[in-house]
Amino acid sequence: MTEAIELEGGVFSQDLPGGRAGARLTVSEDGVSAQTAEGHRFRMSFDQCRLELGGASGRMWFCRDDPRGITIFSEGPALGSALAVHAPPALRTQLDEVEARARASQSRSQLLWIAGLLVLMVLIGLAYFGVRRAAQASVDLVPVSVDEKLGELAFANMDHVNSELKTPELRAAVSGIVARLAKAQPNSKFTYKVHVLDVDVVNAYALPGGDIIVYTGLLQRADSAAQLAGVLAHEMAHVERRHGMRRIAQSIGVIGAVQLVFGDVSGIAAAALEVLSVSTINAYSRDQEREADSDGVAKLARAGIDPNALAEFFERLMKTEASLPESLSWLGTHPDTAQRIATVRKLAQQQPRVKTAPIDVDWDDVRARAQKARHD
Ligand SMILES: [Zn+2]
Repeated sequence: MTEAIELEGGVFSQDLPGGRAGARLTVSEDGVSAQTAEGHRFRMSFDQCRLELGGASGRMWFCRDDPRGITIFSEGPALGSALAVHAPPALRTQLDEVEARARASQSRSQLLWIAGLLVLMVLIGLAYFGVRRAAQASVDLVPVSVDEKLGELAFANMDHVNSELKTPELRAAVSGIVARLAKAQPNSKFTYKVHVLDVDVVNAYALPGGDIIVYTGLLQRADSAAQLAGVLAHEMAHVERRHGMRRIAQSIGVIGAVQLVFGDVSGIAAAALEVLSVSTINAYSRDQEREADSDGVAKLARAGIDPNALAEFFERLMKTEASLPESLSWLGTHPDTAQRIATVRKLAQQQPRVKTAPIDVDWDDVRARAQKARHD
């Protein structure tokens, strides 16, 4: 004989004052029973129990006896597991069905971006088995809503998320520059969102979908708004080119294809998030960095900002930040700096001449606020 299992839960019944009460649940071979603190006791045989999984959390187990108007419930997986131990075959079938339905509806809610990932993975699978070009092309077939969803998840999972500045001034200043650059890219599919984090590190990066994260350390140390614009134009280019998504495709392509075969969709989602962790997202390939520099320069020029500012910022960092550990700085994630300064300057010269116009930001004020944020 298998031992009875006890767990916390509750019961709905017209016989109870208020219609519900917390209860100690017991699951045994005889069925489910609930004992409230006031001494009410409810029993339900397995034949009487109709199972449901739901509630606000979607993780509440309900054992419903509709003819008698009694529902015994418990939050979390414990009731389901207890039933799995004691339930007779008929209820076990119900249990399996409920769990399968819950899994299905969970997947449905994530369908948009998972569907995108699936397309991606199938194509990566193809690429792995010989159709090489499909790997790059596959990302272009994924809707940008997938970039946005992944970016959002990645941002929510980041360590520094609690350091986001609540005061709007710095974000407004950075957003203004991003908007000016975005206007120079009129057919963009992305909506940019700026986050300023109070972290004393010279860094900025973009997540797939258009979240741009700028640290106060960078705002303090850039000499001008144009230098910040240089960094932003570069990061926006990573978004437009979907470099992060291409990294994901590369990193989880093979594993993803295998998981697809076994139908493990949640595994793919988890793996995608893993790849999106900050350390990995910053590890773009050198080709991607060159592309971002080149696009960034063009974007700056189109926006009427001198593209040499990007080179200036690299020079500024080389002088002052060269000794920092790689992981701690924008420079560290952007190798070959001397070479890139030369390339950026050369590209800047090749841009069609457009009139430059000053950036409407009080840069001294931005720096002061970034400095002060750290002491608030
Ligand atoms: Zn980059």
